[in-house]
Amino acid sequence: MANISILGLGAMGQALTARFLQQGHTVTIWNRTPGKAASLVAKGAREVKSAAGAIAASDVTVMCVLDYAASDSVIDEAASALSGRALVNLTNGTPAQARAAAGRVAGLGAAYLDGGIMATPPMIGGEHALILYSGSKATFDAHAGALEGLGAANYLGADAGLASLHDLALLSGMYGLFAGFFHASALIDSEGIRAASFLKLLSPWMTAMMGALPEYAEKIDSGRHGVNVVSNLGMQAASLDNILTASREQGVATDLLDPMLELFRKRAGAGFGDEDISGLFELIRRKSGQG
Ligand code: NDP
Repeated sequence: MANISILGLGAMGQALTARFLQQGHTVTIWNRTPGKAASLVAKGAREVKSAAGAIAASDVTVMCVLDYAASDSVIDEAASALSGRALVNLTNGTPAQARAAAGRVAGLGAAYLDGGIMATPPMIGGEHALILYSGSKATFDAHAGALEGLGAANYLGADAGLASLHDLALLSGMYGLFAGFFHASALIDSEGIRAASFLKLLSPWMTAMMGALPEYAEKIDSGRHGVNVVSNLGMQAASLDNILTASREQGVATDLLDPMLELFRKRAGAGFGDEDISGLFELIRRKSGQG
């Protein structure tokens, strides 16, 4: 069993602490605003009055606060205690913020592991919880047992920004799915059909469409979007146009799908109408030589 400190007792920090306690670890906790620790102290956690005190108490400290402005201020406040310690930052942010934090923490003589939590607080410790990590491999290896207790632990590499990059990319996929669902629901709602009943048709359709992703991924990776004789981009641009026209006719706003049709038209207009729609990727990818 390990000595672990937690910085931040919001909804997520509380769930992380409760899980570590449940697993039998010795847990020291700190939160900027007092008054959030009582139930965790009742379960065996030890509350301390400063972030530095918490860091000094344990082999490894897990921080989970609102954002990187908050985690940066905690790091500043606790700078003197960090030398020789390991910090795991599970605060949600961008790759650039994670890399900057890694640099600052390394400069203070501590090891830095960044993480992205793919779970809600009640999911922590459950079978569907996933936490992505990147940064100090030594820290990940040394504490993998405890970290696995929070959820499946996936180490992505030494670049501290990789966990955040993967986290945000996974969420991008999720929001694309949700956007399609919200538009589809608005369209059928325009005739008084309930979203819940429409799901019986939509869910298997979306599952079937997931089957297209491996081929798109291959085309994206190769940069060759091929001639598509079955359902090319030009045909699909006309079909998306129909969806948006029908939506307007039904009084449904097209804000979620307008940008996609714009990209379809741009790609078709550039002469790629006979290729696959995976070619849209070429319009949004980072151009060579860019940052
Ligand atoms: P909460 O809003 O519940 O808690 C925020 C925490 O951040 C509190 O402990 C708060 O302390 C602390 N905090 C805010 N500003 C500062 C500051 N300047 N200095 C020190 N501490 C500060 O958020 P969650 O616990 O839900 O989320 C924490 C992180 O986990 C976020 O980055 C979030 O994106 C991520 N996450 C959350 C998920 C969720 O479903 N909740 C899912 C996946 C990731 P105080 O009590 O003093 O205000």
